Amino acid sequence: MSRFGMDIDGVLANFDRGFLDVLNRVYGKEYTEEDLENKRDWDYFKTLEDLTLEQENDAFKYLGEWFWLRLEPYDQKAMLAISLLSEKHNIYFITDRHPNPTKELTLWQTRKWLEHFNISPAGVVLTKEKPQACKLLGLEYFIDDNVKNVNNINKTDTKCFVMNKSYNGKCKAERIYSIWDYISIIRGV
Ligand SMILES: [Mg+2]
Repeated sequence: MSRFGMDIDGVLANFDRGFLDVLNRVYGKEYTEEDLENKRDWDYFKTLEDLTLEQENDAFKYLGEWFWLRLEPYDQKAMLAISLLSEKHNIYFITDRHPNPTKELTLWQTRKWLEHFNISPAGVVLTKEKPQACKLLGLEYFIDDNVKNVNNINKTDTKCFVMNKSYNGKCKAERIYSIWDYISIIRGV
């Protein structure tokens, strides 16, 4: 049976919205997702007015206890489709989420978040070493929105697609414009 992998934030979960809420709460800002429409870099401070790199990094201390559990999915119906696929295929979720408040609670919230959408993962992995994880798990395909991850995973036997975002336009890897296209790939194998 083929094995597939998926990143979560920026692919399934709207990390941007959650993080903007944190920035607004902590620094008294009024950022909205429209402010990110022209985001061309991974970092937020290069796009958002009056935000420094230090503030951006410090904000991770203030994510809140249930940050990961409360993130909204981009597409509810896509979650339903992935739930169905997860019953028939081995789908691994590999994320390098900030271990806040603790690594254990971040991992627990990630599992529960998937469970909430009736997704039965073959595994959930919290690691900065995504290429090694893809290799160890023998994944055929992966999808990620981070250019560095995509490029490094593509140096392994796993084929990694880049999820189309304004901030990863320079990535040369094969681009997926809608999560439904990746769902079709899994379905078709
Ligand atoms: Mg991501």
